[in-house]
Amino acid sequence: MKKLLSIVVPMYNEEKMVNLFLQTLTDDLKNLSYDLEIVAVNDGSKDQTLDLLMKAQELYPQLIIVNLSRNFGHEGAIAAGLSVASGDIIVPLDADLQDPPSLIPSLIAKYEEGYEVVNAKRKSREGESAFKRGTASLFYKVIGKFSNKVRVPNNVGHFRLISRRVLDEVIKLNDYVRVFRAEVPYVGFKTTSIEFERPLRKEGKTHYNLKMMSDLAIDSIVSTSIEPLKLITKFTIGYMMFYLLSVIALIVIYGVDKGLELTLINNTHYIIWLIAEIIGLFFLIICFFFALIAEYLGRTFLEAQKRPFFIIDKVIRK
Ligand code: UDP
Ligand code: MG
Repeated sequence: MKKLLSIVVPMYNEEKMVNLFLQTLTDDLKNLSYDLEIVAVNDGSKDQTLDLLMKAQELYPQLIIVNLSRNFGHEGAIAAGLSVASGDIIVPLDADLQDPPSLIPSLIAKYEEGYEVVNAKRKSREGESAFKRGTASLFYKVIGKFSNKVRVPNNVGHFRLISRRVLDEVIKLNDYVRVFRAEVPYVGFKTTSIEFERPLRKEGKTHYNLKMMSDLAIDSIVSTSIEPLKLITKFTIGYMMFYLLSVIALIVIYGVDKGLELTLINNTHYIIWLIAEIIGLFFLIICFFFALIAEYLGRTFLEAQKRPFFIIDKVIRK
C-alpha cells in the first residue's frame, strides 16, 4: 500500500493564490510514489478564498478544506490543519509558493533515508529588506541563547517534513501559545536539513507586520524556555557578590585608613558610602524577593505547560 503525504496549507485572503498554488503543487508532486492529501485551512478569509477552494475540490478530489470559524492567525491555522492531516508524512507550507513544493521530493528522499524531521532551511532571503534580515538573525541568536538543550534551527519556518510519529508528539503538547517551529525541535527525533533559496511571494501580499513578527519572536522564546525569568536570579546573585565586595572594601579601607591615620577619604565621603551601602542592601533584598517569585513562576509555567519530561524513540533489547 502506498504511503500518504499530507500537505497542510494555511490560507488567509489568498484568492490570488488558490488555483496557482494547487496547480503548482500537484504538478510538482505528480511523479511521487505517495498518495496525496492536501489540507487547506481557510483562516477566516474575507475574500473569495473559501469559494475558490470549494470549486477547486471538483478538480482536486484530494483537497480537504478546513474552514475556521474566524481568523486565528498563521500558527492557529497550521495547528488546525495538522490536527486534521492523516498522512504518514506531513509537510506544512505557505500558500504563496515561497516554500517551493518542488523541494518536497528532496525532503521525502531524506525521510526515506531514515530521518523523521527534514527541515527546509532558507539559504537566501531574496527581496527581504536589510531590516528584516537583521531582525531575523537577531531573533535566532536570542532564541539560541535562551533555548538550552532544545536547538531551534536558524532560518527554518514552518516548511519541513515530519513523520506521523513526530506530528503525534507535537499534537500531544498542549501549550496554549503554539509555536510550531519551536515545538518540533522540542519533540526531537532524527533530524536533518536541506537548504533552499526562498523566492518572493508569487501573488498577494504578506500578512506579517512588525508587531506580528515581534509577537512571534517573544512567543517563540517564552514558550520554549524559562531562561529569561532566570536572568533575575542570575542578576541577583551577581549583584549580591558585587554588594558583598563593596561592603568588605568599605570595612577594609576604613579600617586601614583609621588604623594608620592616613585620611585617604574624608569622613563625609565615608558617610555617603555607608548610605549607598544601606540603599544597596534594600535593593538587594528587593531583587532577592523578585528572584524568588521568578523561580516559582518559572516552575508554575512549566507545570502548566505540562510538556512530556522525555519522549522515547525506541527501546532496544537484545
Ligand atoms: N496566514 C494565515 N493566517 C493569517 C496570516 C497568514 O493562515 O492570519 C497564512 C497565509 O495565507 C500564508 C502563510 O500563512 O499561506 C504565510 O503568510 P505570509 O506569506 O503573509 O507570511 P510571510 O511569508 O510574509 O512571513
Ligand atoms: Mg509568505
